[in-house]
Amino acid sequence: MRRFYGDIEGCFWLSQDLFAFEELGATDESVTTFHGCGCSCTVEEQNVETLYCEDCYSSFQHHMDDAPDSDNGLTWFVEQDRIAYHFEKTDADTIQEIINDLFTHIGEYTESFKLVEDTHTIQYDFQLPDGLETEDITQLGIWCLGKLVLRSLEKNGKCHVTVELG
Ligand SMILES: [Zn+2]
Repeated sequence: MRRFYGDIEGCFWLSQDLFAFEELGATDESVTTFHGCGCSCTVEEQNVETLYCEDCYSSFQHHMDDAPDSDNGLTWFVEQDRIAYHFEKTDADTIQEIINDLFTHIGEYTESFKLVEDTHTIQYDFQLPDGLETEDITQLGIWCLGKLVLRSLEKNGKCHVTVELG
């Protein structure tokens, strides 16, 4: 199962996936890992032709010389392998509205939801009731994630999450 981690942690479950972050209005960035040095960075599509790791190399050519060959032409970095999702404190009101609205549909199924916190991160426990429609499960997934994000905004003033792809 695909995991997310950072200010909040958990696994995606049935019919809940990356789109749950988007439904809540997250800003997303692709994260790539450079060949040669192993550093990570976020990239804009239009920059990839001349992108190199400025922390480790003095020039694009310098980085190319050190990176292993690859068939896709993008030899100097591994293509998108993670997505970073960001929420900031100013997003809290919007997220609250979204989950309030969801609650009017699926609130009766949320009884077992419980936040689990330690000093590093926030997770949740939830027992999905049997026999729900797919649409209810999807809404519950977004609602649970929304509760988690809101708690992080309250506690940390931000909520930054990474999701591994593939
Ligand atoms: Zn580097």
